[in-house]
Amino acid sequence: MFTGKEIDNIKKLSEEKSDENWKFRTFLKGCDEKKIDRIVHRLYREISSEIDCNACANCCREISPVLKEKDIKRLSRGLKISDDLFEKKYLIKRENNEEYIFNKKPCPFLSGNLCSAYLYRPDDCRLYPHLHKKDFIFRLIDVIDNCSVCPIVFNPKFRRRYPDGIEMQDVARNNNFSI
Ligand code: SF4
Ligand code: SF4
Repeated sequence: MFTGKEIDNIKKLSEEKSDENWKFRTFLKGCDEKKIDRIVHRLYREISSEIDCNACANCCREISPVLKEKDIKRLSRGLKISDDLFEKKYLIKRENNEEYIFNKKPCPFLSGNLCSAYLYRPDDCRLYPHLHKKDFIFRLIDVIDNCSVCPIVFNPKFRRRYPDGIEMQDVARNNNFSI
């Protein structure tokens, strides 16, 4: 079970594994996206059941979720303040972009390892680390970025050695998947 102590190593180890990650990305580009999605979804369910996000909260420290209009409305309603005040207190616009993000990192709603606005949190937070979604092989740059943040993405079951691209088949075999 993940205890939270491993998080300090993830950034460093991800940097060390950078070449390997990019080789894996190249390999996956040639694979059947539906088959890869099936493997990733099953691995994600398995790995996330072994990890306690409350012992981690690293995404809330390292990632800037994008807030859509409905996220802003839900949060400001939940906090019982106006959208305008919410924007003023908590948000900035991304550079060269119309999208909003929180004005601080770690997130202003992070309290210890818990989200103080959990019921109203943005969709981006609910969906992180996005491994349940379709089209994994078309989102590999984000996946590689998330390796240095999230122990679910970094997990050895995803990150077994992939130098020749052969090991994804080993991952499949070892987990009784067909590829
Ligand atoms: S709103 Fe909550 S879940 Fe989202 S980043 Fe902030 S603390 Fe984390
Ligand atoms: S989603 Fe990943 S980074 Fe976020 S709290 Fe859970 S294990 Fe940590």
